Order: sequence, then C-alpha cells, then structure tokens
Amino acid sequence: FAPWADPASKPFISVKNVTKKFGDFTAVDDLSLNIYTREFFALLGASGCGKSTLLRMLAGFEQPTSGEIILDGQNLAGIPPYRRPVNMMFQSYALFPHMTVENNIAFGLKQDGMPKADIAERVGQMLKLVKLEKFAQRKPHQLSGGQRQRVALARSLAKRPKVLLLDEPLGALDKKLREETQFELMDLQQELGLTFVIVTHDQEEAMTMADRIAVMSHGKVVQVATPAEIYEAPNSRFVADFIGDVNLFDGTVTAAEGGSVRIETTGGIALRMASAEKPASGAKAAVAIRPEKIRISRQPPAHAPINAAEGEIWDIGYLGDMTVFHVRLKDGKVVKASSLNAVRAVEDPLGYDQQVWISFGEDSGVVLKD
Ligand code: ATP
Repeated sequence: FAPWADPASKPFISVKNVTKKFGDFTAVDDLSLNIYTREFFALLGASGCGKSTLLRMLAGFEQPTSGEIILDGQNLAGIPPYRRPVNMMFQSYALFPHMTVENNIAFGLKQDGMPKADIAERVGQMLKLVKLEKFAQRKPHQLSGGQRQRVALARSLAKRPKVLLLDEPLGALDKKLREETQFELMDLQQELGLTFVIVTHDQEEAMTMADRIAVMSHGKVVQVATPAEIYEAPNSRFVADFIGDVNLFDGTVTAAEGGSVRIETTGGIALRMASAEKPASGAKAAVAIRPEKIRISRQPPAHAPINAAEGEIWDIGYLGDMTVFHVRLKDGKVVKASSLNAVRAVEDPLGYDQQVWISFGEDSGVVLKD
C-alpha cells in the first residue's frame, strides 16, 4: 500500500498552498500536501505548530485565509461542515452526558432525518464495530475512558464519512489502553476502508499507526514520509531531533567524493559518511546517528580514527528491553548508545567510568545541511 509513490494515483485530499491567519499571526503557512484514499495519515508536531488548525480547515470549522482544499475532486471552499464527506472526532469526545450510548450514536442520523428502522440498524452495526453492544443503555458517566472513546468513535463513524478526522483521539487514555486502542483503530480503519487523518503530538503514536506522517513546525510541513523514512532518513536537523533519540555531530565538510562526505566535527572527530549529496568543502553540516547505531568497544575499531572516538561510560540506563549508555567523549560531548538486552553487542559488562571507544559505520547515519 503506497499510492503516494505511484505517479499515476490521484490524491483524495489535496491541500494547496493553504495559509491561515488569526489577525497578524500565521497559524498555517502556505502549506501543501496530498492524502490518498484509505491512507492513515498523521499530522505530527509540537503544541502550537498549526496541526489542529489544518484539521479544522479540512472539517470546515475554519476557512483558509488563502489557498484551497480539494476533496474527492470537489473544492471545499464555502462548503459547510455538515455537507462535507468528513467527520471529526475530538479529544474531549463531546458526548451528550444526558443521552444513552445508543442515542449519542444515533444523534447525527436523527438530525439527518434517517428513517427510524434504518437508524436502529446502523446504531446496532456501530455498537458491534466498537464492541459496546452490552452498553447501549448506559450514559457516558457510567463508562470507562476507553469505552467513552469508543462511543465517540462510533458516533463519528455512524454517518459513514469518507474521511475521519481525529484530533488527539487517544489523549485522555492511559498508556496501556492507548497502545491497545492504537491497534484497534488501525484494524477498524482497514476494515472500513476509510481515510483517517489524525492529529497528534505523540511521535510513537504517529509511528505506530500512520502510513505516512507529516512533521509540522511553525505552520509548515517539514517532511512528509513513512515512519521508517522519517526515522532513518530525516531531512533536517529539526526532524532528526524531534523523532526519537539522536546524536548530532556538528562540523565542517572537509571533502566530498564518490558518494561519501568527510566531516570534521567541532570536537575534532574525523567522520566519513555515505551521502548522495555533495556539500561543498568548508560548508557547515551535521551528522545524525541514532543511539542503536553506535557501537561500544574496549579496543579501537579497525577503522579508527575515522568514525570513532574515545570516551568513558558516564551513565547507564537500564530500561528492561534495552540499556542506554551515555559515553562522555574527550571533548566533553556525551553520546548516547543503546543496545537491546536480548542481543547485547558488548563483549563484557560495561561499568561506570570505564574507558571505551564509540564507533559507527559509514551507512549508520545521515548528513544534514545546517
Ligand atoms: P495543540 O497540540 O496545542 O492543539 P496545534 O499544533 O494543534 O497545537 P493549533 O491549535 O493549530 O496548534 O494552533 C496553532 C496556533 O494558532 C497557536 O499558536 C494558537 O494559539 C493559534 N490559534 C488557533 N486558533 C486560534 C484562534 N481561533 N484565534 C487566534 N489564534 C488561534
């Protein structure tokens, strides 16, 4: 499933040069992106980056200041929320407290004037879908947080929208329930064949669920890619730093030849990294390397001093499934190296203050322009 990689496939939602201003504040800044049918698409970014505003423009609760949004071939300009083939589920769920689960789910259908028998059938389907058949007569306050979340989901799906917009849908759930619900949501999306656009500030949530992620900052999209691409080939310092843990080595390009770049870090380490790009000698650059790509050894590796440095074990964090080592290099820089405890790469136990080498391969990171 990768319609975005096929030049022949048409996007289902096209956001074209959309800007949204509140007074003289620009919340969404000349933003363009495409979303495909049946895609699970995540808008990810820190608080205030404009992701909810973009979602609200898709829903029709806000109008773009400029630019346009095309959905299934239709320009959405001037089309009110209830006439768009989309529905939005809010973090607060916005359930009616005095209504039963059944009536909460039926609400929108009644408003649309659907015949009673059809409503009953649809509500039954929805209750089954979210596994709440036994709770039809309860009121929201008689449900757990996870059950309320499912009622909200059932209600937002009852009208069979083509696109479901979810604004931090799992924000109110505790960690364990959130993780379970992530998989339930993915199953549901597959089963219904719908397009989901989710807003989240939780990178693990976006990585787990989404087919593609748009990383946003200051009203702009910084990178749109699959979770694996975002993690393994971040296109900027911002994305590398925002997603997961990373070691950033800042330096200056000393040479670029035949698919590899040489960089001298500010701490004096000589790096040689594979890179399709050829930055000019003297240019500032940074190399981003994930902690799990850093090796720790007692002896210098064969390729030392390239891509290697001496240091000492400064901190050890045992996380159950893995251990994170903080190694303090001679120049004072602290490098994070992690290893899975099941496949522990180090030959013998490493202790505090121990002298070690850190090293990494030429393909283990990305070169970022500054
Ligand atoms: P969060 O995760 O905190 O909801 P977000 O990335 O979804 O953040 P938005 O809600 O889209 O951010 O808001 C983006 C910016 O626009 C914020 O600085 C916010 O204060 C501002 N903003 C949003 N709505 C309005 C409004 N109606 N009037 C004025 N400013 C607004």
